[in-house]
Amino acid sequence: MPEAEIGVFGGSGFYALLEEVEEHPIETPYGPPSDVVVIGEVAGRKVAFLPRHGRRHQIPPHAINYRANVYAMKMLGVQRIIGPCAAGSLQPHVRPGDFVICDQFVDRTSGRKDTFYDGPITTHVSTADPYCPQLRALAIATARELQLPVHERGTVVVIQGPRFSTRAESRWYRSQGWEVINMTQYPECVLARELEMCYVNISLITDYDVGLEGEPGITPVTAEEVMRAFRANNERLRELILRLIAKIPRERQDCPCASALQHARVHA
Ligand SMILES: [Zn+2]
Repeated sequence: MPEAEIGVFGGSGFYALLEEVEEHPIETPYGPPSDVVVIGEVAGRKVAFLPRHGRRHQIPPHAINYRANVYAMKMLGVQRIIGPCAAGSLQPHVRPGDFVICDQFVDRTSGRKDTFYDGPITTHVSTADPYCPQLRALAIATARELQLPVHERGTVVVIQGPRFSTRAESRWYRSQGWEVINMTQYPECVLARELEMCYVNISLITDYDVGLEGEPGITPVTAEEVMRAFRANNERLRELILRLIAKIPRERQDCPCASALQHARVHA
């Protein structure tokens, strides 16, 4: 089995950057991941890349086998996962082109396989703080270094998709004060926690969801617009991730992720 210490759920834009990549098809007990895993080196660190939608973006958010993707990283020995994603903004001050290092999520998905623990060992991991505090701090510092427009915290509401929100849904989410909307953060980050891996999200804002109240010029998001905005910012995102990888300490310190299962099990 090949090895890697850091995992990235990214798109194909990353492949080109690595000089020598090896492709590894991986089978997991939960089925095949979205694609082959590509392993390469960044700043002397072994990094595994896996596009969560597949290389041809053929797997929609609700159909992704999140368990297989996350488990494949675990099988490689990955301890830290960087999970960038395209996302919409629910608030005027979070603008397209901004980066949000989310610290909370709200799950509005349904029917997704979102746990590795279906019994017989009943396991309840804490997700009070679902994202790794150590990786979040490093991601924020790195974004600041690169002078990127970054928000140090944010709540992402994860919708089931594949459709976008209605105006009423979007207004409801906005009125709760939530900043970001996306279709893939859940259960990816929780599954990483269940396997005691650190996970950090980098949301790249591509649009204003259904628009902005009082700003009739902004039209509701389309898939074409998301892809256009994502491509336009891909280079900055890549730079951010590569710099972040170089900064990650080899040992985990002061983060609860590595011992997430310690008090999580129910013993009769
Ligand atoms: Zn951690």
